[in-house]
Amino acid sequence: MSVFTAAADQSVCAPLPVLGRDVTVPLVTGGEVTYAALDYAASAPALQRVWDDVAAYAPYYGSVHRGAGYLSQLSTDLFENARKAVAEFLGCRADDQVIFTRSTTDSLNLLARAIPADCQVFVFETEHHASLLPWQDARVTYLNAPRTPQQAVRTLERALADRDPYGPALVCVTGASNVTGELWPVRELAAAAHAHGARIVLDAAQLAPHHPVDIHDLDVDWVAFSGHKLYAPFGCGVLAGRADWLRAAEPYLAGGGASRKVTRRQDGAVDVEWHESAARHEAGSPNVIGAYSIASACKALTEAGWDGLVAREQHLIAKVRAGFAEVPEVKILSLFGDDAPRVGVISFVVEGWNSSHFAAALSAEYGIGVRDGLFCAHPLVRTLLGSDPQTQGECGAPEAAPGEKSLNAIRVSFGAGT
Ligand code: PLP
Repeated sequence: MSVFTAAADQSVCAPLPVLGRDVTVPLVTGGEVTYAALDYAASAPALQRVWDDVAAYAPYYGSVHRGAGYLSQLSTDLFENARKAVAEFLGCRADDQVIFTRSTTDSLNLLARAIPADCQVFVFETEHHASLLPWQDARVTYLNAPRTPQQAVRTLERALADRDPYGPALVCVTGASNVTGELWPVRELAAAAHAHGARIVLDAAQLAPHHPVDIHDLDVDWVAFSGHKLYAPFGCGVLAGRADWLRAAEPYLAGGGASRKVTRRQDGAVDVEWHESAARHEAGSPNVIGAYSIASACKALTEAGWDGLVAREQHLIAKVRAGFAEVPEVKILSLFGDDAPRVGVISFVVEGWNSSHFAAALSAEYGIGVRDGLFCAHPLVRTLLGSDPQTQGECGAPEAAPGEKSLNAIRVSFGAGT
């Protein structure tokens, strides 16, 4: 268990206090143990600062953009200031929009509804389903899994060179894999996209909690991320980037807040003028607590300083991987190889063990919370396991017969706020 306790070792890496560090959980063997949450890639615990900020605001909670009263005015200010804080966190360009959504999945689905009708979309088969699936109604090309970052760039360049050069095109790519933790060559992919007249959206769900994401510096057109993976668990996400396609698109949801003027015509129909700002895609009462908590997390991470956060996390990754290296039965899953730069997300299989049973035993016998399954990236995990899609089960607990290849994997993940 020393591998896992290394990852849970607060003394190694505690730059930002998170909630739930001292929660005790019962063990099947009897007694209790301090819980080790090592599933940050699914949902990270809240930063204490986020929780405190939300608690301080809670008595003043009110509706956004709707009321003349003090609480409503205050809530509207907090919501709009949260937008500015996120823009600053992402280094947005002056004319970029920041739209509050429910999650990364929601953000990418929003963008998928906003792309021009004839847009060609390019996406690697290795993506999380949130990046892989929203483009089903577009002209989408799925690119084969690359085995090096350079191969990823070459694969994209070849695909873009073959495309219809006159129509709009979009590349969707992850910044850090939720399976291997490996970093993707975002800058190079963005340069390739732009060289071929395409745009690029970055799925930063796993990158933003671990590294600074600067939209301008990476030269991407849009960024999507989720609050709950960034230590801000109140059901809010972000889509930030170029305004033109978003402004030209039909609203993601039709309703109040998105509409500037609604009139009944003589013939009985209803005419709508939609907002051109971010409000166009934020119909309904906004999630002010979610947006405020994301802004709070953005500020806390920035103030803590990325250099220190990254250095501590890298130290921890090295420690956990060194622990794994001492256990010959453990095989770490990797697309780009051992030396690839990565964040604190490590998936593995243990020879002789069913991954689901192994993960369940870690929880029941040691109080260590990890994830098992295919991590909503089925094609990638199948490639990494070399398993046959026909015999593969869903996320959950597919059974491998003794001596057969694992059908799913175990994932341990942690972050800067560990
Ligand atoms: N993209 C990546 C790389 C992810 O890891 C995840 C979630 O695990 C998502 C997108 C989807 O995030 P959400 O479930 O918050 O929409």
